[in-house]
Amino acid sequence: MQILAIVVSLAVTLVAVALFGKTIGHIVSVIKLGQPAGRTDNPGKRTVTLAKETLGHTRMLQWSHIGVMHWFVAFGFIGLFLTLVTAFGQLFDPHWALPIIGHWFVFEWVSEALTWTGLVSIIGLMAIRLRHLPKGSEGRYSRFYGSTSWQAYYVEYTILGVLICIALLRGLEYQLGAVSNSGGDKFHFPMTYFIGSGLFGGLSEHGLENAVYLVAMIKILISFAWMITISLNATMGVAWHRFTAWPNIWFKRRADGGTALGALQPIMVNGAPIDFENIEELDEDAALGVGKVEDFTWKGLLDFTTCTECGRCQSQCPAWNTDKPLSPKLIMMGLREHAYAKAPYLLASDDDTRKSLPELVLAEQDKPLVGPADVAVIDEEALWACTSCGACVQQCPVDIEHVDAIMDMRRYQVLIESSFPSELNGLFKGLENKGNPWNMNPSGRMDWAKDLPFQVKQVGTDVESLDEVEYLFWVGCAGAFEDRAKKTTQAVAELLNIAGVTFAVLGDGETCTGDPARRSGNEFVFQQLAMQNAEVFKETGVRKVVSTCAHCFNTLKNEYSQLGVELDVIHHTQLLNRLVRDGKLTPVAPADSSLNGQTITYHDPCYLGRHNQVYDAPRELLDIIPGAQYAEMPRNQTKSFCCGAGGARMWMEEKLGTRINLNRTTEAVETGADKIATGCPFCRVMLSDGLTAKQADGSARESVEVQDVAQLLLASVKRGE
Ligand code: SF4
Ligand code: SF4
Repeated sequence: MQILAIVVSLAVTLVAVALFGKTIGHIVSVIKLGQPAGRTDNPGKRTVTLAKETLGHTRMLQWSHIGVMHWFVAFGFIGLFLTLVTAFGQLFDPHWALPIIGHWFVFEWVSEALTWTGLVSIIGLMAIRLRHLPKGSEGRYSRFYGSTSWQAYYVEYTILGVLICIALLRGLEYQLGAVSNSGGDKFHFPMTYFIGSGLFGGLSEHGLENAVYLVAMIKILISFAWMITISLNATMGVAWHRFTAWPNIWFKRRADGGTALGALQPIMVNGAPIDFENIEELDEDAALGVGKVEDFTWKGLLDFTTCTECGRCQSQCPAWNTDKPLSPKLIMMGLREHAYAKAPYLLASDDDTRKSLPELVLAEQDKPLVGPADVAVIDEEALWACTSCGACVQQCPVDIEHVDAIMDMRRYQVLIESSFPSELNGLFKGLENKGNPWNMNPSGRMDWAKDLPFQVKQVGTDVESLDEVEYLFWVGCAGAFEDRAKKTTQAVAELLNIAGVTFAVLGDGETCTGDPARRSGNEFVFQQLAMQNAEVFKETGVRKVVSTCAHCFNTLKNEYSQLGVELDVIHHTQLLNRLVRDGKLTPVAPADSSLNGQTITYHDPCYLGRHNQVYDAPRELLDIIPGAQYAEMPRNQTKSFCCGAGGARMWMEEKLGTRINLNRTTEAVETGADKIATGCPFCRVMLSDGLTAKQADGSARESVEVQDVAQLLLASVKRGE
């Protein structure tokens, strides 16, 4: 038995280690095919982030009970590695223990505790997977829909098998010590002695020794069969993430631990931001965006490699949940399969080698990256369905940066292929010719202020520079031209006036921030608009800005620094909340108040919440309105559901699946709310349209209204006048 166990174990181990080393080399060479990405700034902060996210499992714990179980399984994998070393020793001497620590009670107790917590946890995780398997007509909404099931089962059964072997070996060690009078002290086997006495109590010393050889061999075989299997499947993210998640987290976009949301990165060529003013100096073959898988950065390729197929991103994606073909998980998996299938072509040293490659590789090389679903790697309908809401990035436990990948592919489609939904032509025309998506005459940018009972100061007309006032009030295109959003603009102006906050606006000197251009892939138009605004900001000395639009807020706050303009940007809900706390605005509740006894719910705009972590200010404002009560929607804050307008989807038709705005409005109406509050003009439009549709079919009360938080506050403050 002993000889057989030694020969088989060592042979399988040698094969496994050789294959494993070869596959690691292959994975590294595929990742190196990507473009430069930097990501080595602030190594200290990056290391702290990595430590927090692994030791504290901070991202996994967004799904708390699963996070706890995963912690025990992950740390069992690391902490129980030495039991594998022990198993090799036991093949040669069944009494063998690690030198120094092998019989140290702390090591023994920790090992046994990790074994049992690991066992309970892996059984729990397996049960959760089984309970949530895609089934029947609702199968699509399982987060595991589209994941490679056999790989997940295989990994789970491997862990289960290894942990059972560890528990059995510990029991055998106890019993062998007891029978041979060389140990067998329950103090050293507090959680496994009963296995030894219960299961193996009838065996002789020789029988126990053979049992040790057998179980040690099985443990080694399970472990190294796993290593062989993953070596033969470089795209098996559910297994490889154990190794790739570490660098993927360390090299994430933000060294401070934040998610890859907020700012979009400029188009990078050779690791440097592209200079659109000198675009003719670019190499002919420089890619504007991503048109081939090797145009992604190496971090992008590492992202695809790392995807565990857990489906958290898919479960939160508004596009997927309204029956569109976009799943961020399936995008990652599709790009990974393609990258690894095409890699032999890209890695081939010369044309002769390339020509001799198998047909499958050559076919992969010929595949367009984006196009119709039946020919391309990424279905163009999926690419354009993204609202850039960031739910996927927020959820991903291994810090995959889906939105960057999607936006880079859109950029190539727009700038190089001129292939995009035809409705975007109107958007681009309006932005290029009139500086706003609605193609309205810029002279109408001050119309919203005409009926106000006080004068709104305009820079250049009423004030020379912004040094004369506290804030630039950034009105935004929606706030200036869209009738419902104009009411928010007026409400904020009134509230600032009541609170005695001085502000001025740019009037027709304001142009679109460029957000819809950038999110629809038209980086060229974004740069034009942003540079135009940057010039105005520099001329007028802008520093402090208040914005009512979550998209403008995000772009001005996070993206204009890429053009050398540093602004101190605040969202109107944050400023108003501060003014209320400082006693400059006082909400009151007279007996006949329209808000008295009414219920308010709040929809988190993605670009305020997930992209900028502003969750509390609007809630605190609504909470303080006397007489009204607050009801939270089930999907809120980091898990909020998009209204459907982001990512320039506001200007595209929603032809596939069900409507995102209806999905969200239904949730809002089901809270029983009389008022649906929000803090973004685009959310307001989408929710209002959803509400109108629901009121028309009788599924929402006629009295329900969508309003901005500022309007609700103004109504309450004005009652006190
Ligand atoms: S950003 Fe939002 S819509 Fe786009 S893939 Fe991620 S979750 Fe889906
Ligand atoms: S991208 Fe992240 S959240 Fe989505 S399936 Fe992969 S690992 Fe899970």
